[in-house]
Amino acid sequence: EVFVRGLKDLIRTIPDYPKPGIMFRDVTTLLGDAKGLKTAVAAMAEPFEGERVDAVAGIEARGFILGGAIADRLGCGFIPIRKKGKLPWKTIGQEYTLEYGVDVIEIHEDALAPGQRVLIVDDLIATGGTADAAVKLLRRSKGEIVGATFIIDLPELGGLELVKSHGIPCHALVAFD
Ligand code: IMP
Repeated sequence: EVFVRGLKDLIRTIPDYPKPGIMFRDVTTLLGDAKGLKTAVAAMAEPFEGERVDAVAGIEARGFILGGAIADRLGCGFIPIRKKGKLPWKTIGQEYTLEYGVDVIEIHEDALAPGQRVLIVDDLIATGGTADAAVKLLRRSKGEIVGATFIIDLPELGGLELVKSHGIPCHALVAFD
């Protein structure tokens, strides 16, 4: 697929960021390219175009950029999933494990009406810890999860398989070892 090659070339790799040994996949170079952004947004939305989607839930921060555009394309609303302490109204929180320690993501407690069908969006899935916490948070909010869509999968870390194991259709546009 020609577009996938083109997209992969637009992603910048930064060795040893944020720590030695990490190869950071930087999508700002893709987002800054008019054709790259349009292509990525269209391809991320495409598998879910025939379905009822009531809202896109974007994960802070790059999931907001992509998620807003995908929501507009699908003709649905947008819900932010944020790091702890950022949302102004009453929230529901979900803890998840990082390599060292724990983190919390939050959603407004009234963000979803029961049974609303939600699509999860982020730029990259690695271990799946973040997306898995988003799944738990949305399910506790009584949402029905339509799927999850990413630009980048790191298959060696197994995140996409983890989220799929909850019965959630998952899509990523490109993979890096
Ligand atoms: P996970 O929870 O291990 O799947 O990590 C995914 C989360 O960390 C996502 O919110 C990503 O935006 C972020 N992340 C992890 N590695 C990278 C990377 O190499 N580039 C950009 N974001 C990353």
